[in-house]
Amino acid sequence: MNLLVVSTPVGSLGSGRGGGVERTLASLVSGLLARGHRITVLAGSGSQLPGGCEQAQLWTACGDDQPSWQHLNRDTPVQLPADSLLANLWQRALEAQDQFDVLLNLGYDWLPLWLTPLSQTPLAHLVSMGSVSTAMDRVIARISASHPGHLAFHSASQASDFELSQPPFLLGNGFDLERYPLSLQPRNQLGWAGRVAPEKGLEDAAAAAAQLGLPLVVMGLVEDREYAARVEASVPAGTLIWRGFLEATDLQAELGHCRALLNTPKWNEAFGNVVVEAFACGVPVATYARGGPGELVHEGVNGALAVPDDVQELVAACRRALAVDRAACRRWAEQHCSLAGFAQRVEIWLGGLL
Ligand code: UDP
Repeated sequence: MNLLVVSTPVGSLGSGRGGGVERTLASLVSGLLARGHRITVLAGSGSQLPGGCEQAQLWTACGDDQPSWQHLNRDTPVQLPADSLLANLWQRALEAQDQFDVLLNLGYDWLPLWLTPLSQTPLAHLVSMGSVSTAMDRVIARISASHPGHLAFHSASQASDFELSQPPFLLGNGFDLERYPLSLQPRNQLGWAGRVAPEKGLEDAAAAAAQLGLPLVVMGLVEDREYAARVEASVPAGTLIWRGFLEATDLQAELGHCRALLNTPKWNEAFGNVVVEAFACGVPVATYARGGPGELVHEGVNGALAVPDDVQELVAACRRALAVDRAACRRWAEQHCSLAGFAQRVEIWLGGLL
């Protein structure tokens, strides 16, 4: 296949502002390149191709970012800035569509979904979040009715948020596991990784770490500074060790130093990349039994599950997770979230559109 992969209109590739979509794009592109496909990536200006994607071509477009849907009210209308990066990306994609077999959208946005029936070249969407907006729910339901094969999701919980005309195509996700060193001898600390924003629930992990008497290393872009300050103030000084946004190689090294990862989403997390990235380093995960992480974590096998939003439960789950065999976590990631397996699933999905 000759594929155009269109990235998120939030941030440039490498900035971390695109959250899990950036890692998904890296895995998808490098996995498909390894299977002999030709890939062009279209992303915001300032983007850099991630490691492993050097054989792809990079096109960039200028313009102002989209506001993130998850930080708007559910009934906010669709918005486009005057000089819209989203519009500029899709103008470029549609102008070049004749050069490609498939256009693949990785952004969670109304415009590319709405364009689906109007594009001559098949336009496919890997939906990256659950339901956060009425406008997005509607357009996803509409495309599911008219072009069901054009939609894929990361997890069953995520897909169940939407009104779909047929059983969802589930891709999970994949990771270049060779880049994640297995660490069998961690430091006496817990970890938390992700964008520092209210939907990620860092305050619960901080409270649990304080009760357990272990420091919590926080890895990720601080999206909401006031929120971060409130979480810092909610626990004894020294509980949180703020590391900021780490480049992929630094994150891969740092995760392995943790005895367990606490993962505390307050929303229906579509997948939870950091959960699998922790497994890959041999780190068990304590998380809430909901969304993607609730499907990835298997009690006693690679971590422990807690009743959602219950910090006491999370503390107990973390104690159980600390007893889990680290090598087994790594094996689970190898069996279920390899790059090759993910690329193969994407290939089957997109092959069905040709
Ligand atoms: N991440 C990173 N550096 C950090 C913390 C996180 O590169 O310091 C990446 C991590 O590899 C993961 C992504 O950010 O792939 C977060 O994805 P996730 O699916 O966990 O959450 P999202 O941000 O999509 O809601």
